[in-house]
Amino acid sequence: MVDFGQYGPEKYTVCARKCPKCGKLFYPEPMVCRECGTRRDPSGLKFSEWEKVPIGGRCRLLTWTRLFNLPSDFADRFLLFGIVEFDDGLRASGRLVAAQPAEGMLLTARTDVVRGSGEDSQCGLVFEEMAPTAVQLKAKALPPREVGETSGRI
Ligand SMILES: [Zn+2]
Repeated sequence: MVDFGQYGPEKYTVCARKCPKCGKLFYPEPMVCRECGTRRDPSGLKFSEWEKVPIGGRCRLLTWTRLFNLPSDFADRFLLFGIVEFDDGLRASGRLVAAQPAEGMLLTARTDVVRGSGEDSQCGLVFEEMAPTAVQLKAKALPPREVGETSGRI
């Protein structure tokens, strides 16, 4: 069950739930842990509530698709939708932002507005291509110098 209460305007974070007994992460969370059978109680009265763990960071694209025929409040002709796997094995789905999506590519996940604006906005997971590392940026910004090149002043 998805906890829509976590999408409040002040807390833009999509969270997984951690089983208190075996530590396995789930998203969306089940009522019973598939690993060890520990039960989850959203009220926290009979069984302990499971810890929320924000979803984000490095992940790898498992599969993706283009969604056409979007509702009228979308300005785009289509959007990309992907399923990713994080380093800890957690899998999640969400909006994909990539110029040339490819299975296995490295992405970074964050929570952002995926529909609407203002108070009507809805948040969800967004997966983006990983920003180039500092070394890659430096290599792009500084092309190899040619022999005999000067600093510009003769
Ligand atoms: Zn468990």
